[in-house]
Amino acid sequence: MASISEKLKLQFSALTEEYVKQLPRRLVEIDEIYQKLNESTDEVELYEKLRLQAHKLAGSGATFGFEDITESARTLEHHLNDLVESGLLETDPDEQHIGIYLSQLKKDCEIHACSSSAKKAELPMQQIDNTLLLRRHRDIIIFSEDQGAGLGDLADQLGFFGFAVTLVSDLKGFSESVEKNANQLAIIHTSVIENDKQGMQALASTKHQHQNELSYIFFSEHTDFNTRLCALRAGGEAFFIIPFDLARLLDMIDSLNADEELEPFHVLIVDDDPDQVSYYALILQQAGMITSVASDPKTVLNVLVEAKPELILMDMYMPGCSGTELLSIIRQQEAFVGVPVVFLSVEDSEDKKIAAVTNGGDDFITKPAEPEILIASITNRIMRTRNIRYFMERDSLTGLLNHSNLKEQLIREKMRAERTGNDLCFAMIDLDLFKKVNDTYGHLTGDKVLKSLSRILLERLRRTDIIGRYGGEEFGIILLNTSLENAEGVLNEIRENFSRVRHQAEDKEFFVTFSCGIACFPDYQDTDQITQEADRALYNAKEKGRNKVLVATPVKNA
Ligand code: GH3
Ligand code: MG
Ligand code: MG
Repeated sequence: MASISEKLKLQFSALTEEYVKQLPRRLVEIDEIYQKLNESTDEVELYEKLRLQAHKLAGSGATFGFEDITESARTLEHHLNDLVESGLLETDPDEQHIGIYLSQLKKDCEIHACSSSAKKAELPMQQIDNTLLLRRHRDIIIFSEDQGAGLGDLADQLGFFGFAVTLVSDLKGFSESVEKNANQLAIIHTSVIENDKQGMQALASTKHQHQNELSYIFFSEHTDFNTRLCALRAGGEAFFIIPFDLARLLDMIDSLNADEELEPFHVLIVDDDPDQVSYYALILQQAGMITSVASDPKTVLNVLVEAKPELILMDMYMPGCSGTELLSIIRQQEAFVGVPVVFLSVEDSEDKKIAAVTNGGDDFITKPAEPEILIASITNRIMRTRNIRYFMERDSLTGLLNHSNLKEQLIREKMRAERTGNDLCFAMIDLDLFKKVNDTYGHLTGDKVLKSLSRILLERLRRTDIIGRYGGEEFGIILLNTSLENAEGVLNEIRENFSRVRHQAEDKEFFVTFSCGIACFPDYQDTDQITQEADRALYNAKEKGRNKVLVATPVKNA
């Protein structure tokens, strides 16, 4: 993983780039003031304006390490300072120091503006530092004695989805590759184990040594029971008949990789007895949960807002307010209607338990609660709530955020970017001539293409990027802390990879491309405007022939 300092470096260099980019605009502004100064009589105000501009350039030049800019800006600033303070404004054309200092400043700025664009023009696309913007490759080993059979092509196709593939042809090569990286997936031809007990045992024992870090998928021309059994005994978790159905293979890889760490559950414990609170907190924490505590019912609403727990574990009897009363108060707030509440009480009267659940409680556990029961009840309820939320927020075909959630996130992230001073990009993708894909190969095949695009986005973009299905064959992506240029680089790389993915429809194969438009904050301030501009850039990409990424740039007021 990238270290913090690397990230900072990247952010800093992006800022520097931005700074250099806007130098010409600043010079134009300065020039305009200078022109006015030459024509005007109301000079003091203009001197003041010019001084301010010089001052800003001196400061920002220093921040970004452009000493020459700082120096010439400072010379100009000092000179203007002297003039303003002494009241002796320049009237004699021979004494026009401002012009001289100004042209030196312009020269210094122009050197940087040019050298940086020249440098950038030389950079081939791969050299844009995408390492922090794209997710790391995951490793796959393809093990087959016969290296023909289109395996190189399979490796390429997997590569487009972000996997790093190694091809090996013998056990020695296989073992070496396994040792090289953690968390790998091996796709193994059954010839390695068929009629070869040693091979089978070797694979099984390698798998055993790497327990949770290594998965096997076997592939074969044969479907007979014996071959399948051998594969199973060698540690195979899945079995594929060749030729591979890439979409199915990717699905399988996804499910084998489904080791995504579950976010810890967050539980709020409401109980007036500190000892009990500590006890329950300890049980839950040992089960890996995060706990917050409210020992006074009156503070619960505040804690709810701040801690945003996923479940409330509540004592039934507390001074001043009963558990059911507190529950009603909580449920009156729209934001907390869905938070499950589990009651804890020494109460063993069935009637009271029923009353508690009837009043909106989700479960009732009698004190002293068995840790296993408590944990099971909490886990079930939080998982169910998470699942419901997942499906409410997501598109059912691709599992990506749906339109309204993506828009909400864009608003939220834009506000955050405003606060932190970071860039944010919004990219809109639309598949090219997708109607034709549906018409030619059928809607189901079209759906598979949509899934493969969503998969490539998920595999290649950073975890922090927010990906949604914007509409039918349109996708939206929020790239956090990313400059427009970097976003363009990343999306171009994804565009190229996607265009080389071979899609399958029964016995036919075909390729699909997409077009993309990107707009960024702070170039555009309002989220509606950001979306509109991204959409407009997308439209332009379509106009200009499709299979393109175009960026929206604001028209500068001259
Ligand atoms: P363009 O390059 O201009 O975007 O051409 P296009 O054919 O992609 O654009 P158009 O808007 O004419 O057609 C979009 C097509 O996308 C039509 C619709 O059937 C298809 N589509 C939208 N949603 C889905 C979906 O969920 N599944 C499938 N299979 N197709 C979809
Ligand atoms: Mg469309
Ligand atoms: Mg389209």
